[in-house]
Amino acid sequence: MADSSGTRWPLHTKIFLGLVIGSVCGVGANLVLGDDPNLAWFVSHVTEPAGRIFLRLIFMVVIPLVFSSLTLGVAELGDIRRLGRIGAKTFGYTLIVTTISVVIGLTLVNLFRPGESIDPAIKQRLLDSVKAGSSTAAPTPGEVNFGIQTLVNIVPDNPLSSAVNAFKGEMLGVMFFSLLVGVALALSDPERTKTLKGVLEGVYDVVMRIIGMAMRLAPYGVAALLFSLTSRFGFTILQQLAAFVLITLTGLAIHQFVVYSLLVKYLGGLSPLTFFRQIKEVMLTAFSTSSSNATLPTAMRVTETNLGIPRQITGFVLTLGSTANQNGTALYEGVTVLFIAQLFGIHLSLNAQIVVVLMSILSGVGTAGVPGGSIPLIVILLETVGIPGAGIGIILGVDRLLDMCRTVLNVTGDITAAVYVARSETARTKDEG
Ligand code: ASP
Repeated sequence: MADSSGTRWPLHTKIFLGLVIGSVCGVGANLVLGDDPNLAWFVSHVTEPAGRIFLRLIFMVVIPLVFSSLTLGVAELGDIRRLGRIGAKTFGYTLIVTTISVVIGLTLVNLFRPGESIDPAIKQRLLDSVKAGSSTAAPTPGEVNFGIQTLVNIVPDNPLSSAVNAFKGEMLGVMFFSLLVGVALALSDPERTKTLKGVLEGVYDVVMRIIGMAMRLAPYGVAALLFSLTSRFGFTILQQLAAFVLITLTGLAIHQFVVYSLLVKYLGGLSPLTFFRQIKEVMLTAFSTSSSNATLPTAMRVTETNLGIPRQITGFVLTLGSTANQNGTALYEGVTVLFIAQLFGIHLSLNAQIVVVLMSILSGVGTAGVPGGSIPLIVILLETVGIPGAGIGIILGVDRLLDMCRTVLNVTGDITAAVYVARSETARTKDEG
């Protein structure tokens, strides 16, 4: 999702402006015109379709994106075999710490319920308004019957049919198939599979380019979506959005300053204060670029020079981490799905929430380390638990701000992993010596 729109203002500033203009005009129209049929006509014939076209441009590449990014992600993880112990430690660390981050996020949304305090009738209207444009019949909202048949269904008998029905609850089948192809690719003779890998890399690049093009329309799309929402639902919806931003930032701050401090202290043997002081430059780079990939060179340099971590470890752990270990992203994805569910008045059963946790962790691996990389993955998560994917339109305007913050966590998490792996390796060498 390229950020250079070639004009004076960066894209994210324009998207934010889209949010402000759309909301101000929408709230104004709501106050002045209220239930005027002309306003309703304008929304249903102009702003709503415009917003929907923008969202569909992203939806249409979700399947090739999931397939290529997960397959390649896992195939690259294949290096783990070669790196043996370091690989296993990094992988274990990623799984555990990502789970902690998602659980923090979900606990906060369940406790504070940022999307809940609106009238149930408004919730229903809100849901109806996004459902109206959806071309698919989603599974029963909020219900994921996590029984034996669900487990069987995760393994698709026909991956193409799962892809066709991905927005009707069969996305997990597509993900499973992609993971399996990735594993097989990692185990195959690289000479014979290099063309296939090249094709997948090509698909991935093309898809990212399409999303980049769609994102150029985001300022207008976001303005249209926000106008449609606020002209119908007034100021209330903006208050909910503010609560969502606050909860997400709180979750991110807890993970950044409490969880990482504990990890650095107990697993890495470093003073958290020194750690954060040393990596300040990395955090600032992540914050300003919103991209783990773009921060990678700075992260490597700082981790090696300021923290004294050996190059063999930073090279592997940070590179892998910049795509696979995304704690901030996983937390954000979980919080967003639950928030949108609350806003629509959809109760997510415990099973559905477990699915959200699992998929957020998996999405942490599948999300590209670029600005807005998690947006397509959130659509998948929403659809899987029976929430219309178009619900994402509500939070798109504030995504960039939260992206800057979650990327700081993504990168800090990678460095924490490197600190842990380096320390445990040194301890081991000493023991052996
Ligand atoms: N911007 C994030 C990163 O690069 C990915 C995302 O959550 O959108 O780490």
